[in-house]
Amino acid sequence: MAKGIACPKCRTLIEGDFSIGETLKCSSCHLSFDVGYNDFQRYQVVKQEQQRELLKQQQKKEQEKVNQQQYEINLQNESKVKKITRKILYVIGALILVSFGFKACFWPTDGSAPSSQSTSAPERNADGTREGTQDDAKYFSSWDGSNSELVSYVKQGMKDPSSFEHVETRFSDKGDHYRILMTFRGKNSFNAVVTQQVTASLVKASRTLSDVHEVNK
Ligand SMILES: [Zn+2]
Repeated sequence: MAKGIACPKCRTLIEGDFSIGETLKCSSCHLSFDVGYNDFQRYQVVKQEQQRELLKQQQKKEQEKVNQQQYEINLQNESKVKKITRKILYVIGALILVSFGFKACFWPTDGSAPSSQSTSAPERNADGTREGTQDDAKYFSSWDGSNSELVSYVKQGMKDPSSFEHVETRFSDKGDHYRILMTFRGKNSFNAVVTQQVTASLVKASRTLSDVHEVNK
């Protein structure tokens, strides 16, 4: 006969080789009952239920383990993606800086005479220079582009200041100061009219010149 029965009251499994009609006492609920055919069937049913429940819990545990692993992998991937994204942003930033630096090098003296309709956004001329802005117009003549401080300075050093003739002034805005390159004509010590160039820095706030040098050709 089948092994084991299940208690008809509390369904506790009682292992053993029992016969129909045998009187038993459940150790769990202390019920005394005569073993019937149904008690053997119940044993099979409860046993299967318990096995299914056990299997379910094992599967659940494994699924949780897999989920945890997947979660950790996702975290790792996420941090990798973040690192890569940060690197890409750094590279883009560096490229932007390099391209600005390149432009600054390409147009070292990029100012022309400020025009009357100039705006804060400088427009590039065909030769790479730009129109002066309204800010530049405070320092450079909108008539011929010259800087009055530098003109006065150069005239003071000339033997014949009346021979001074402005040709062209180019400048580069360095933020707090301008770098200026002025081309001019004038009589030299031999009374010959020569074209000369001078470079200088002009501090915007104080309108003072420094670093004035003749350009020797
Ligand atoms: Zn019982």
